[in-house]
Amino acid sequence: MWAADGSVKQCKAMRTGNARMPTHIVIAGAGPAALVALCELGRTPANARITLLTRSPHTHYSGMVPGWIEGIYPADAIRVPLAPFCARHEVDLVVGEAREADGERLVLTDGRSLSFDTLIVNSGGETRRAGPLAAPSVIPGRPLEGVVERLGPHLQTAASFAVIGAGAAGVEVAFALRARRPDAAVTLIERAAILPDFPAAFRARILARLAACAIDLRLGTVTECAPGAVMLGAERVPADIVLAFTGPAPGAFVAHTPFAKAADGFLAVGPDMRSLSHPNVFAAGDVATNADDPRPKSGVFSVRSGPHLAATIEAIAAHRPPPAARLQRHGLVLLSTGGRRAIGTRNGIALEGRLVWRLKDRIDRAFVRRLTTD
Ligand SMILES: Cc1cc2nc3c(=O)[nH]c(=O)nc-3n(C[C@H](O)[C@H](O)[C@H](O)COP(=O)(O)OP(=O)(O)OC[C@H]3O[C@@H](n4cnc5c(N)ncnc54)[C@H](O)[C@@H]3O)c2cc1C
Repeated sequence: MWAADGSVKQCKAMRTGNARMPTHIVIAGAGPAALVALCELGRTPANARITLLTRSPHTHYSGMVPGWIEGIYPADAIRVPLAPFCARHEVDLVVGEAREADGERLVLTDGRSLSFDTLIVNSGGETRRAGPLAAPSVIPGRPLEGVVERLGPHLQTAASFAVIGAGAAGVEVAFALRARRPDAAVTLIERAAILPDFPAAFRARILARLAACAIDLRLGTVTECAPGAVMLGAERVPADIVLAFTGPAPGAFVAHTPFAKAADGFLAVGPDMRSLSHPNVFAAGDVATNADDPRPKSGVFSVRSGPHLAATIEAIAAHRPPPAARLQRHGLVLLSTGGRRAIGTRNGIALEGRLVWRLKDRIDRAFVRRLTTD
């Protein structure tokens, strides 16, 4: 339904109750929540038409990016081609980037517009990169396709890497760089505490492993990203390549929508994932914040919201009220530490070793297999 002005008219005609017109559901962003939801559905429900809008023809699976850095997985093994995925699930694929939206249509960065009856936003977050981290030389952790494209050519040649941000993603990437390049300097920079939301036993194991791997952990705030170095005040950290894993921030697209925002700037949703301001708009994954029942912004919770999103799509197609989500609060965290080893934690207990990595590898491969074959 690509059009300049006609798209909006067509959309209104649908809402007036023409029974022959399927309701048009547009999903903006091919995050894990949406992909799992479409797998759960199998096919588009009767009375609905689904369009998936995504800025890349592939979606990368973040859980396997550290393994790609390390050289365990080829690039093809960590990404899902969306054209065959959409064909299998009877979904229209549009490759493009949403720039702004109102309650009836999306406008893309290339000027096209896409009208909808219902919008589901699953566009994730962008890397938080204020001040010196906005330098063009810094590779942001998001989008993942950018990490693969920009880091790939330097993996074998750079003499020094600096990873800024010691959350789960930054820590895993630092371990992966060390495993790939035992000869290079790898520095992990954190301005506050490493993995603050994780149990003490887990943090202790990670700190011990960082030391064992000769990853230089520096506590401090980056004041400048200069050519070949990162400055922490007067201190110079050599860095041919600088990567920022500083956590998710709402992207420009979210800011250019009239949909209610939570205090963190992401889209404010209720228990049924519905926008607090626009009843025909839903959000899932990192882009959504339910202030009354928050969940960490992580792939685990995005994946878990997939089945609920599938039920929501079925309800929308059947003109029923969408169900309320009941997402688990805690999950198993498996963090790869390089060399086919991992540390896992659940309910405050931490386990480490090769078996933990094999479990992670099996879960990750099964996830991508499901998205590429189901
Ligand atoms: C290196 C790394 C490793 C990680 N490892 C783990 C892990 O092991 N476990 C874990 O739980 N979490 C992990 N995370 C976090 C996890 O990736 C995210 O929390 C999760 O992917 C969020 O999922 P989402 O559904 O919000 O969508 P995302 O995965 O963020 O996907 C959003 C999609 O929308 C597209 N998009 C964005 N904006 C637009 C737009 N304007 N128009 C069109 N398309 C758009 C993007 O290109 C992307 O394909 C990791 C993150 C990184 C960076």
